[in-house]
Amino acid sequence: MTVPFFAPDLFEDDRQLLMDLVHDIGTAPQQKFLLGECTARFEEALRDSLGVADVVACSSGTSALTLVLHAMGVGPGDEVVVPAYGCAPLANTVAGLGATPVFADVDPWTMVADPDEVERAITDRTRAIMPAHMFSVMADMPRMSEIARRHGVRLVEDSAVAQGGILDGRPAGTWGEAGVFSFVQVKTFGTAGEGGAVVTMNPELARTVRSLRNHGQSERFVYPRTGYNSRFDEVLAAFQLHRLPAFPGLLERRARIADYYTDRFTPLAERGVLPPPPGRDGRCFYVYSLLAEERDALRRYLAERGVESHVYYPLPLPHQAAFTRFAPAGRSWPHAESASRRQLAIPVHPRLTDAQVEHIADTVCAYAGLSGSR
Ligand SMILES: *Cc1c(COP(=O)(O)O)cnc(C)c1O
Repeated sequence: MTVPFFAPDLFEDDRQLLMDLVHDIGTAPQQKFLLGECTARFEEALRDSLGVADVVACSSGTSALTLVLHAMGVGPGDEVVVPAYGCAPLANTVAGLGATPVFADVDPWTMVADPDEVERAITDRTRAIMPAHMFSVMADMPRMSEIARRHGVRLVEDSAVAQGGILDGRPAGTWGEAGVFSFVQVKTFGTAGEGGAVVTMNPELARTVRSLRNHGQSERFVYPRTGYNSRFDEVLAAFQLHRLPAFPGLLERRARIADYYTDRFTPLAERGVLPPPPGRDGRCFYVYSLLAEERDALRRYLAERGVESHVYYPLPLPHQAAFTRFAPAGRSWPHAESASRRQLAIPVHPRLTDAQVEHIADTVCAYAGLSGSR
């Protein structure tokens, strides 16, 4: 049996829908391919489902972060606290605005930014803190909100991987003053191309972001500010709008697979393979991430038995050549460094069959010396 990490036929169920939408929008009299009626309806549908002030669709999750940080006035001389372990956009977006990313270490188990470390990283130049939800676990947003409030800094929630996650009854993306989603194919509500969204409780911020995503325009060909080209595709807006009702079912399938894995893997903790914490509150199963003492050996063992796995972030952000200039000399991030050595993601996408899921679990258990099926 071979199990690819990502579904090889992600949009098969929606194939006809996508073809029809390309034709419908391609032949509609308005000839509007960006920021049209479908984008507006998609934004409204997300806004209503989240109960926020506004949702602004844009060209990617990365761009959504840039639009938010720009709208908050982040620029040269400012610092933004970001996790030391995570994806490049966390530091790139801050650096791209001429500001300084300040790296906070992460929790050794859940791999999300450690609130105490975030608080320690705050200085009088800090403009915002930007925690990110990770592979399977949301950041500690109640603590992050409290820290942001107490220090008078802004809170940006990188919820690019966590759309659909809920913590303490509150959806991912709605904890920060602004949150972002990414619709790149591998994310929980991924699509057949690029896309992202800004989610915000602040209508004024939303207005600025809306203007920034379209060159800083306020009304047609009037530019009170400089901006970006970060528009959203109409075909993808229509496609996502049609797929939205099926999204909870896809999340449930991911969560069930994850529950099963955690159940099977909890006994492996003493054998050098640690699953994420059990439960559903504050979880987002973008990927299912193990911590393995002998990560590369586990990876080889899985590959020899047909199971693809991925190492996310073999280097912490401050050790990447692009960002070493933001890493103070002598500073280390031991938990981020340990995560980079031990993290291994196994497939959890909703198109896996039960047989594939069982094969993956059996193989991990066999590696750790516990016999296969229960
Ligand atoms: C994917 C991702 C992004 C960027 O989203 P894109 O749509 O790929 O630009 C930002 N932050 C995190 C944590 C991500 O995983």
